[in-house]
Amino acid sequence: TADISTVSEKALSSILEKNRSYYTQGKVADYIPELGKMDAKAIALSVVDKNGNIYNTGDVHKKFTMQSISKIIALMIAVNEKGEAHIFDKMGYFGSDKPFNHFSNLETTGKPLNPMMNAGAILTTSLISGEGEKPFLKILDMVRYITKNPGIDYSKSVYESEKSTGHRNRGMFYLMKNNGLISGNEDQLDNYFKQCSIELTAEDLAKIGYFFAHQCVRFDGDDKYKNTEVAKLVESQMLVAGMYEFSGEYARTVGLPSKSGVGGGITVSVPGKIGIGVFSPSLDQHGNSLAGYHMILDMVKQYGLSIF
Ligand code: GLN
Repeated sequence: TADISTVSEKALSSILEKNRSYYTQGKVADYIPELGKMDAKAIALSVVDKNGNIYNTGDVHKKFTMQSISKIIALMIAVNEKGEAHIFDKMGYFGSDKPFNHFSNLETTGKPLNPMMNAGAILTTSLISGEGEKPFLKILDMVRYITKNPGIDYSKSVYESEKSTGHRNRGMFYLMKNNGLISGNEDQLDNYFKQCSIELTAEDLAKIGYFFAHQCVRFDGDDKYKNTEVAKLVESQMLVAGMYEFSGEYARTVGLPSKSGVGGGITVSVPGKIGIGVFSPSLDQHGNSLAGYHMILDMVKQYGLSIF
């Protein structure tokens, strides 16, 4: 294997080209109608190296919605505010063996399995303090901070599309409200839909991956959120549940804390080393980017990045 410190845009570009055609084997998400409009052929790969240098290849300026990747940011904020014990009194640390929108044991124990599936993520966001849109704005500000990209915003059209079709998420919200886990009104669910609709690029995802790989220190060295325990918590959830019910096989084949979203992005943390961001909107049956997964596999093989 090659040393990751020798990584170059040329090397990334050959990995991208090798995997470009995987999009033909998957399908762009269309259960949120607005997402169905994405260009299936778009593809990008970004790396932030140990020293914070950025390497990009492909459609690096192409924006997409972060979707489920926003769940790790919400988790960090909720835990920073309320403490881990308070959050995990209301949900589990369990791995995912069910699709992201599964009700899992909301009907039995009453508590979500983990903060990476929709139920747990909707609950996590409801636990961030503030009225109305405030919790969402905290998530948006944190994404802007981590990426050092103040221009990041959310897509109103994707948000409206999620809000008008997200009845399953609405069902989970009210079941958790019935179970006494959620106390607020539907503004809290809207905050979840908004966080899913935040638009960014593969480079932004690489910076997020770097952040959690480096104890919540930003790629430029800013350490105002430095927190080893929060980084460990978030990375462990990424490892056991970040790729939905594919997480176990992904841990075997890739072996890195990662979080995917149905917008086609995946953020990867290589602990103590680099952050990787990939984008390709054509998804496998679990909702993970197909070409994205294969680019990550090649990165891992070429540079020996697995933590195991
Ligand atoms: N907004 C999406 C949903 O709630 C996020 C899911 C995902 O990315 N897996 O259905």
